[in-house]
Amino acid sequence: MQRITILGATGSIGISTLDVVARHPDRYRIHALTAHSKVDELAALCVRFRPDAAVVGSPEAAQTLTALLKNLGVPTEVSHGEEALCAVASSAGCDTVMAAIVGAAGLAPTLAAARAGKKILLANKEALVMAGQLFMDAIAASGSTLLPIDSEHNAIFQCLPQPYQRDPDHHGIAKILLTASGGPFLHRDVATLDSVTPDQAVAHPNWVMGRKISVDSATMMNKGLEVIEAHWLFGASADRIEVVIHPQSVIHSMVSYLDGTVLAQLGNPDMRTPIAHALAYPERIASGVAPLDLTKLANLEFHVPDLERFPCLRLAYDALAAGGSAPAILNAANEVAVEAFLDGRIGFRQIDQLISRVMHAATPEAVADIAGLFEQDRHARQLANAFLTT
Ligand code: NAD
Ligand code: MG
Repeated sequence: MQRITILGATGSIGISTLDVVARHPDRYRIHALTAHSKVDELAALCVRFRPDAAVVGSPEAAQTLTALLKNLGVPTEVSHGEEALCAVASSAGCDTVMAAIVGAAGLAPTLAAARAGKKILLANKEALVMAGQLFMDAIAASGSTLLPIDSEHNAIFQCLPQPYQRDPDHHGIAKILLTASGGPFLHRDVATLDSVTPDQAVAHPNWVMGRKISVDSATMMNKGLEVIEAHWLFGASADRIEVVIHPQSVIHSMVSYLDGTVLAQLGNPDMRTPIAHALAYPERIASGVAPLDLTKLANLEFHVPDLERFPCLRLAYDALAAGGSAPAILNAANEVAVEAFLDGRIGFRQIDQLISRVMHAATPEAVADIAGLFEQDRHARQLANAFLTT
């Protein structure tokens, strides 16, 4: 029986994870569920999955949840705040942690899970983008298993020889081919991009996801973050990671080998496939995803990404090349910009402009610890907020 903590249980990935877990009550048990503010939804999940612990974002939310659960007769222990998140991520009560909080807020608990040697199913790419070296060092030191949930990285993992040594040369790998749908604005006239609304930006053609990652997909910052994520997960330099636009999202990514072989992972675009893969690895279990009907597929297209249309992708490659805290600065500026866009405070094209301004104004540094990293994150957010008001 695998005992699981889900960080970000009320989100898109959290709900998909619980869907897979519920299909296999003989294999999985929930140790803890966390949510930032959706107390009613979390209470309903506690009734259904009976976790030992639940964590929310504030003392008020904790009070409300405690009262709700008491009325419902559910004995789940309720706590709140970052320390509590770290506690349920590193608790002796769980073996596996699904890291599915969105953004930098997920870093501390995911790192706590890594230090405690838990099996980590990593959806929270921002944590790895921010703290790549420190995070991978923590994984190596504790000997914990890291399995990618991001569909591209999970696909790449499936196309790599196991055990993989985090060195493409060692395995005769020429390139990692990261596929990208191109999002909702792949063919839209660039001149009209500034008038797109948040609702248009989050309407992804193939995937249903949280709002932040949906905007990231529209700007292709998501793919930029994924390039950095692939760099850390697979030990590949930037020139070995190539982004390929593939609007159908049927091939989830590929690995190209020196002998001319290209291995690809295919499937319907549904996150329950990578989630089930990682939960059961190295076994295979049913995920609820419909089988891929190859005879119903239209043409599969592949294009080179247009960096004029998607400047965020270039900014991410720049941050990876700059190294040190540059990816953390990129990530922080992007989080501020996306939130401002979703709140209607800036237009779509100002997202990349704001990130670019912060990247130019901030000086990336080598960071030795998490405290230094959060300091850089804070500074970048301050800069971004100051630029928003000028
Ligand atoms: P979401 O917005 O649907 O859910 C986010 C979850 O995080 C919620 O449970 C929320 O309560 C929690 N949360 C938000 N802010 C928090 C904070 N400050 N402190 C603690 N908890 C907080 O997001 P999502 O789409 O499920 O994405 C989650 C992560 O997975 C992101 O890092 C995203 O990039 C990654 N991811 C998602 C998908 C997808 O299909 N949704 C695919 C690949 C990767
Ligand atoms: Mg992805």
